[in-house]
Amino acid sequence: MSIPSSPAPCYQPDQLFQTKMKLNNRAFDSISSIEQHNVIRRVASVPNTTEYFKRSESVHSMPASPSPSYSLQKHKVQVGPADFDKVRLLGKGDVGKVYLVKHKSTEKLYALKVLSKKEMIKRNKIKRAMAEQAILSTANHPFIVPLYHSFQSEDHLYFCMEFCVGGEFFRALQNRPGRILKEDEAKFYAAEVVAALEYLHLMGIVFRDLKPENILLHESGHLMLSDFDLSIQSPTAAPPTLVRHNSPFSKPPMLDTRSCMNIRTNSFVGTEEYLAPEVIRGSGHTSSVDWWTLGILVYEMICGYTPFKGPTRDDTFEMILSSSVEFPDYSSNPYYKGTGLTGPCKSFIRKLLNKNQSKRLGARAGASEVKSHAFFKTINFALLRNMKPPIIPSKAQPIRAVHFNPLKESVSFDLNHHDLHTPPDDEDPFLSFNSGKSPFGMMMMH
Ligand code: AMP
Repeated sequence: MSIPSSPAPCYQPDQLFQTKMKLNNRAFDSISSIEQHNVIRRVASVPNTTEYFKRSESVHSMPASPSPSYSLQKHKVQVGPADFDKVRLLGKGDVGKVYLVKHKSTEKLYALKVLSKKEMIKRNKIKRAMAEQAILSTANHPFIVPLYHSFQSEDHLYFCMEFCVGGEFFRALQNRPGRILKEDEAKFYAAEVVAALEYLHLMGIVFRDLKPENILLHESGHLMLSDFDLSIQSPTAAPPTLVRHNSPFSKPPMLDTRSCMNIRTNSFVGTEEYLAPEVIRGSGHTSSVDWWTLGILVYEMICGYTPFKGPTRDDTFEMILSSSVEFPDYSSNPYYKGTGLTGPCKSFIRKLLNKNQSKRLGARAGASEVKSHAFFKTINFALLRNMKPPIIPSKAQPIRAVHFNPLKESVSFDLNHHDLHTPPDDEDPFLSFNSGKSPFGMMMMH
């Protein structure tokens, strides 16, 4: 049984809302007659690079290379591209490719993300790659993909990460009956995302690109956030403060994770269907964008499509800015056994999708406020890792990467013939790309 992942027929903008609701309601009536749609992986918006390109002419002509920045200075272990055998291509990101690799001496499998320096310079992505490395190398959380090493060669940057056997959560969702999860299942994943976001916010980091494509499934079935290239980190993360509940006598004060971030930015970043209204308006956004994207994610997990998708980009933006959240009628959906979505679930999504960022759930005290919503009443956040995840990926023959779409490389990449290092150069924009800076996060491979 399947329903379309997203209602995107050709309709006029003024009919958009009505058509959308009709689609929502009939989804389960015509389940068997609906063909599987081609699933398109949604990509994040790419900021304009022209300005940077002009400014970076000098960088272009730089002596191409970096310091011999091998990793794991903490343990004096050095690794580089030649320490790995390439097994297969796992995926392609906005910049770069991710390979399944085997560490030659330990035979352990890792995911190796390879970024071309030339391409990053050309597309003004240097800062993003450096930020991603800085964030991943300091992050140390069960629901954030571990970065074990980062190193560089003359032409490439490398991130050696935990191999998430279960692949993209996006693909796992597509393979579910009806491409949806039951409310309790969605609640489990939402809780893990909240735990990860809480940690990031406490570290002064706004994730900014939450979507099923950026969530990976660990072999245990627990999820891991990945792809931090749109994330932003506050240069001055402060300790959290306390916020009192409106009724101070009934509940203890909440930890205010927002206080760790002194960030307000205008950049237009994110993925179309997941963009928050304040990002589209360019009116300045804060960590609250992560709570908006959580609302879209929970909606998509439960309904199989995002709530504001229109036929064109402009229609989508229009709906994000002005349409209210509507839920499909699940009373006849066999998956929901006649009960439909619960009140707390609808309230949770509506509160996260408040278009006014200062009134959105999480705007007052961050993650503590989100966790205390009635939707999570049955969740014990401290024991999340002990809960049995709804989807446990098959671990048999991980080398075959069965949870990934087979991909072919147009140009074969050879880890053994990586370029030689040349001496460091002051002008080198990748000079600080190494793993020795972080106090934690660089775990041993052996
Ligand atoms: P990214 O460049 O981070 O967007 O990654 C591109 C794709 O590579 C992802 O969508 C996944 O399919 C795959 N991928 C990235 N990181 C990992 C990982 N740690 N484990 C398994 N697959 C990964």
